[in-house]
Amino acid sequence: MTDHYETLGVARDAGQDEIKKAYRRLARELHPDVNPSADAAERFKDVTHAYDVLGDPQSRAEYDRGPSLGGGAFGFGDIFEQFFGGGRSAGPRSRRQPGQDSLLRVDLELADVVFGVHRELRVQTAVLCETCDGACTAPGTSEERCTMCGGSGHVQRQVRSLLGNVVTTQPCAVCQGFGSVIPQPCPTCAGHGRMRAERTIPVDIPAGVDTGLRIQLPGQGEVGEAGGPAGTLYLEVNVRHHDVFSRAGDDLLGTLEVSMPDAALGARATVEGIDGPVDVEVRAGTQSGDVITIDDRGVTRLRGAGRGDLKLGVQVVTPSRIDRRTEELLRELRERTKAPAPHLAAFKQGLFAKMRDRLRL
Ligand SMILES: [Zn+2]
Ligand SMILES: [Zn+2]
Repeated sequence: MTDHYETLGVARDAGQDEIKKAYRRLARELHPDVNPSADAAERFKDVTHAYDVLGDPQSRAEYDRGPSLGGGAFGFGDIFEQFFGGGRSAGPRSRRQPGQDSLLRVDLELADVVFGVHRELRVQTAVLCETCDGACTAPGTSEERCTMCGGSGHVQRQVRSLLGNVVTTQPCAVCQGFGSVIPQPCPTCAGHGRMRAERTIPVDIPAGVDTGLRIQLPGQGEVGEAGGPAGTLYLEVNVRHHDVFSRAGDDLLGTLEVSMPDAALGARATVEGIDGPVDVEVRAGTQSGDVITIDDRGVTRLRGAGRGDLKLGVQVVTPSRIDRRTEELLRELRERTKAPAPHLAAFKQGLFAKMRDRLRL
C-alpha cells in the first residue's frame, strides 16, 4: 500500500496548508482535462484519495495512528453517518441557485398615495452577467463533464473500519459536486454568472398604500449564482407626515378654522385640498366640533373603486384683540341673543376630538 504522504510528496509533519498546496499543484498537473494519459488518470485518483485522507485533520490523525485496532477509528455513529448522511443524493447539484430577495424602503408624500405614483427606483443588486449570460464560461468555451466523477457529482470511496470495508459516497472534490468543470471561467463574473450593478426599476405604486405596507415585485430581486432565477424585491412603503392633512383609512382629516361671525352667519370658501381646490360651505350656526364632509376627496381605495372622503373638523375662532367699537357690538350681541351664562353640558367625545388627537400625532 502506498503512503499518502509520499503520493502528495510532502513530509509527515507537513502543515494542512502545505498539504493543500501540494494537492492543488498535482491536481493541476494530473487532472484528466489537461493530462489525457492513462498513467496520469491513475495517479490523479491516488493523489485525490491521499488528499481526501490527509486534507482533513481528523481523518489524517486516524491515518497517522495506523491500522491498529486500538485507535477506535470509527464509532457506530460515524458509520451510520457515512451510510445515511449527506452526499447520497441522486445526481449532481445544479450551479444555478435561486437569487436572494431584497428589501427597499420607498418614501412617499401623502399626495403620491392619493392617486398612486410612478417611480424609477435605483437599486444596487446582482444582475445576469452581460458577457456570459449566466453560463459562467468564457466566450467560445463551455462547461465540460467532470472526468473524475463521470458527471455524477459524487465519488465512491472505500474506508477501512472495524466492520470491514465500507463504501461511502461523497461529493466529488474536483467539480464540487456539480458534475462538470469550467475550464475557462468568464472573465467578467469570474465564473459566477452574475455581477453587481445598479439597476433602475420602474414601479407603478398603487393608490391607497400606507406606511408599513410591502409591495412585492417578483423577479426583481438579486439574480442567483450561475444566472439562477431572480428573487423578489420587496418595497416597504413609508408615507411622510403631511403638514395639513392626516389620514384615517381612506379618509383625509383636516381642521377648518372659522371666524365667529362666519360660524354664526354661514360662509362659503375655497380651500386647497390634497389634489386641488375644494369648495366648502359653512352653514349658519356652525359649532366648534362640527365636521364638514366633502365626499370623494380622500385617498383612492387600495382595493375596490372610489375614494374616501375629506373630513374637516370645524374650529370656531373667537376674536381676541378687539377695538372699542367691536366691543360695543359684542355687548349688544350678547344682550340681543340672550346668550346664556357659561354652564355645564354633557361630556362630548365627538369625532372632532378624535380627529384632533390624530392630528397631534
Ligand atoms: Zn460572466
Ligand atoms: Zn466531479
